[in-house]
Amino acid sequence: MSEKFSRLSSQLYGFSCKAVDELSEFNGRGVLYVHEKTGLTVYHLETADPENLASFVFRTLPEDDTGVAHILEHTVLCGSQKYPTKDPFLYLAKSSLNTFLNAMTYPDKTVYPVASVVPKDFYNLFRVYADAVFFPLLKPAAFRQEGHRLEWDHQGGLQRSGVVLNEMKGNYSSPESVIYDAVQRSLFDEGPYHFDSGGDPHAIPDITHEGLVKFHQKHYHPSYCLVFLYGNLPVRQALKILSREVLPSFQIRPLPEPFPLQKRRQERRIVETVYPGSEEEPGTVALAWLTEDILDFQTILVLEVLTEALLGDGGLLQKALLEAGLGEDLSPVSGLETDLREVVFSVGMRGVPAEQATQWEAFVLDQLSVWAHEGLPQELLEAVIASYEFSLRELRAGGMGLRYLRRLMRTWLHGASPRDSLIIAERLQLLKDQLSQGLPVFQQVLKKYLLENPHRTLVICRPDPAVFQQDEELEKEQLAELRMKLTEAEIEQLKIEQEEVRQFQELPDSPQAVATLPSLTLRDIPRKVDIPVSSWETQQPFPFWVHETFTNEIAYADVGFDLSHLTPDDWLVLPFWLRCLDSLGTKELSYDLLARQLALHTGGFSARATADRPLGHRPEERRLWMRFRMLDEKIENAFDLIETLLKTLAWQNESRLKELLLEMVNDWNSSLVPRGHVFASYRSAAGFSPSTQITELTGGLSQLDFLNTLDLTPPGVSRLSQQCENLTQRILSTSQAVGGVTGNRNAINRMLKRFQSWPELFSERHLSNLVEFPHFSSVQTRRNIPSTVGFHSLTLPASRLGEVGHEAELVLGHLLQTGVLWEEIRMKGGAYGVFASQSSLEGLITLATFRDPREQESFAAFRYGLEFYRDHPLEQQDLSNAILGAISGDLTPRSPSERGFLGLQRSLLGITDGLRQQKRDRMKDLKPKDIRKAAERLIASWDQGAKFSLVPQTGDKGVPPVEVQAR
Ligand SMILES: [Zn+2]
Repeated sequence: MSEKFSRLSSQLYGFSCKAVDELSEFNGRGVLYVHEKTGLTVYHLETADPENLASFVFRTLPEDDTGVAHILEHTVLCGSQKYPTKDPFLYLAKSSLNTFLNAMTYPDKTVYPVASVVPKDFYNLFRVYADAVFFPLLKPAAFRQEGHRLEWDHQGGLQRSGVVLNEMKGNYSSPESVIYDAVQRSLFDEGPYHFDSGGDPHAIPDITHEGLVKFHQKHYHPSYCLVFLYGNLPVRQALKILSREVLPSFQIRPLPEPFPLQKRRQERRIVETVYPGSEEEPGTVALAWLTEDILDFQTILVLEVLTEALLGDGGLLQKALLEAGLGEDLSPVSGLETDLREVVFSVGMRGVPAEQATQWEAFVLDQLSVWAHEGLPQELLEAVIASYEFSLRELRAGGMGLRYLRRLMRTWLHGASPRDSLIIAERLQLLKDQLSQGLPVFQQVLKKYLLENPHRTLVICRPDPAVFQQDEELEKEQLAELRMKLTEAEIEQLKIEQEEVRQFQELPDSPQAVATLPSLTLRDIPRKVDIPVSSWETQQPFPFWVHETFTNEIAYADVGFDLSHLTPDDWLVLPFWLRCLDSLGTKELSYDLLARQLALHTGGFSARATADRPLGHRPEERRLWMRFRMLDEKIENAFDLIETLLKTLAWQNESRLKELLLEMVNDWNSSLVPRGHVFASYRSAAGFSPSTQITELTGGLSQLDFLNTLDLTPPGVSRLSQQCENLTQRILSTSQAVGGVTGNRNAINRMLKRFQSWPELFSERHLSNLVEFPHFSSVQTRRNIPSTVGFHSLTLPASRLGEVGHEAELVLGHLLQTGVLWEEIRMKGGAYGVFASQSSLEGLITLATFRDPREQESFAAFRYGLEFYRDHPLEQQDLSNAILGAISGDLTPRSPSERGFLGLQRSLLGITDGLRQQKRDRMKDLKPKDIRKAAERLIASWDQGAKFSLVPQTGDKGVPPVEVQAR
């Protein structure tokens, strides 16, 4: 075992080794180090994974709703002692080969993770983050930019701005966030979880710069810091950096106060709240319980399995609620919240009127008491445990460090050992043993933590269409009042502060400051692209792409059914058809029993539809991709089950169809604001090709509108059922299908053998031609949405993969997103985000903003961005940095199943390994003039572009619609 890992030392750079854990579950070894002089604690999980991760973690318990922890998380990354530029984070995002770079504020902690597959890059990221968290400059201007500030508007009035302020306004525009917040506050009367660590927009203006600095001094100290290191690099170098560059100036501090636990109540409570929504909506109700301390590992595992059995796919409580017809569907707040010290179990339902809330509550409690007395079906519990075991066995890649970080932090932060925090297999085995002995573990937990636990609340949420307007009017009034009260001196002071922010944003960093940042060279980019060994191996019964590789005895099957004959109307129905595929049930198995069988015999079954325009002269690829995975020993069972499922879908079950439909309509409506930028960009791109149009029909506003106009009366549902059944006949046919299999040779042969009988399984379909799409046209270029912030998108024609200039456009897109547009739209404009995304197959570039308070200014900034890179020649170093940043996304490691599927897709779409290598080579050879030419080309195509905006309902109504010819 020990040969796989680096040599252990009991002392390293002032760190003492405190524990060594052999972690066979992870094929790894964990070693705990503590720095003697400062108490800084490091846990190193060494595995064979080349994607190394490092994270700094601080306990940041909020004491109010100002969001100080969140604003600090942002501001810490705006310059530090050793790296005094205004935005080292942005620099790293722009110019490193990171596979992950971010910072997150949780209800009780702040986490700073970085990851890379290139060692030199990894240490660069680690150094900059280490200096940022312990020695940030926290300039007042940075605080105002990221947190909140007052500004003069054009009429001489005051307005408030700030990145976190707008981010949280967006957050509070989503009904789900409002309900989630109400649930959490209702269970915690006091202590950190009573407050919103992200910041309540009403309270954010209360935090001052001094308050921010104090919060940093209190919490960001090595004695209170946990560092997690993960991957295949030995620990030595990271400890050396910490010991020499970070820790010399610190002394150990006494332990922080113990975590304040919530005092348990003896009576249930009712809490009422409002969320932004229309009057026609009935509302949402939720029941939430405060259960056990997260440190009681075995109980929490039982609760996790129980939650899945009650609320997962086909879960008992979910099914009972839907069948009772008490509401529309489960609210996304339902589930077990394990990111808190004391774990919360909630079940919520959308579409329940407030006056029926107590009946609904009584129904839930009655149901629970039935299961508490009679027990839960053994097979259901086994199915949930089987899916846990499957995910432990499966090899994954990309983001493993992040996944372990999240699991580790849940309890390491509260004093558990890292080993206890990480392992699962032993506890799962104990649970299986208890279950096979017939011990009533689940009944006991159900009784103790839910049924007989008085610390619970009934949360009643009513929609209120005026909630934004009231908020905005209140803010306006307060600002006007403030404006009246300002003295001359205060006005002067405000002007000075505004000028400071402007200078901070507009003055470029000095060359000396920029020179402090560590950089890579183009030679650090891996020369060769990753090429999985896989190929077309057989044409029988249809062409199969075969990827033979080690998969830890898991087999993967993909089937791509041809969809070229579907009409636009078919495509509109398709997302619902897909939703039903694994959730409708079959003629023999109701959907909950089907879900159980799927969990017992497969590791997952999923389907999605894609439309792509391949390179070269191939016809468009429109496919339904069906994927399933299974343990090698379950191949026969899994195929039996999937084949029966596809043959006997229960389209006649109209009551279930209606349940699924209501759930889907609700999910889509509530995704509009959180994913506004996606809706806007699908729409702005929709007119460019049949494929982009299909993407919009199935994933954009057209789909949303389609769902909202569906007839939910019995005749309407009946018609839809017939449409779906008809679609099934036309989709499920192996003519023109393709397949892919990944696994060891034996598993591959067994899967191919099973596929031999698939042509007989389905009716024969005559070859059909590609359905031509009518040109997408819409004169509408804006739409109102219920939100306080907007989303704007512009799509321009660009080049495709393989065409000269394509690589320059990719780098230009990266420069825009992280350079000029970031400055103009995020820093100055106060939007939360701006994106440049390219479709290498379509030959399109889309620029889009996220949670954006301004509209015309943002479109003007898009244009300005392109002109900027046309008129300002790049320095060679800036270009190299941008190339590195643009390539980093291609370096994320892939799991065996992803590599197999990617190979298949690339082959169908004409993306050869030669083209991929050519792209890598051309990227590295780019010259500054290539970027200028790319900007010129995009400016030249400006008039062929298309815009789309989602704008706040309460926004400035005086703005005329953007005058663009919609395509
Ligand atoms: Zn944030």
